[in-house]
Amino acid sequence: MVTRCGFIKRLNKLFDYKSFNPYIYGEPNHFPMFKSRLTLFLIAIVFSANLASAQSKKSASGDTVKIMPKSEWKGVEGRPYKQHVPIKITVHHEGGKVLTKNDDAKQRLKNIQTWGMGPDRKWADVPYHLLIAPNGTVYEGRNPLTVGETNTEYDPTGHLLICFLGNYSQQKLDEKLLKVLVNLLADQCIKYNISAKEISTHRDHSQQTTCPGEDIYSYFKSGYIVKEVRKMLKRRNFNN
Ligand SMILES: [Zn+2]
Repeated sequence: MVTRCGFIKRLNKLFDYKSFNPYIYGEPNHFPMFKSRLTLFLIAIVFSANLASAQSKKSASGDTVKIMPKSEWKGVEGRPYKQHVPIKITVHHEGGKVLTKNDDAKQRLKNIQTWGMGPDRKWADVPYHLLIAPNGTVYEGRNPLTVGETNTEYDPTGHLLICFLGNYSQQKLDEKLLKVLVNLLADQCIKYNISAKEISTHRDHSQQTTCPGEDIYSYFKSGYIVKEVRKMLKRRNFNN
């Protein structure tokens, strides 16, 4: 005859009840399937490695700097123009009036488009692909797969044009703007598979201008910007 107690004993044997019910026997064993701490440790290592790999892939491909769409500054659609794929990145400043953080950057941008597309220039759109306001906000400009415009003698075909709104012969970059520039440059290098050595400024391509202004240029002349972009690219596992 099987007593109640005997039945439970058999049941315990069948399901190795001890390992599923740690509280009865005192020794907590919350993960009975993991036989040793070494197994747990190895699983943790594999899990962290997979997580790190997934995160690095994500950071290598995604933009770190948010780009505000044209609609933010009430820009109109550009007219059709020559197509290209960016293979270099060239940094500019607007070079007109000083623009402070308190000024209306969106209105300035809208004015540039209205003037550029008007009878003065008859351009297809705002001349630059990406524009940076003094507060660090980045705005969408011309379609990056469309050649930009210039008032000087160089051919901007293949150049992705990034422009600071304002006049950096008379105003200065602050730490935030430097950070935005480095991150934006790294984003675009990854997006278009451009090497950091292809980053330069307008005056590196033209004898007719001091663009992007003394202050911005000083960071390029010292090699600071390209060095920081390289560091960022390395961190994001982009080696070009
Ligand atoms: Zn320029």
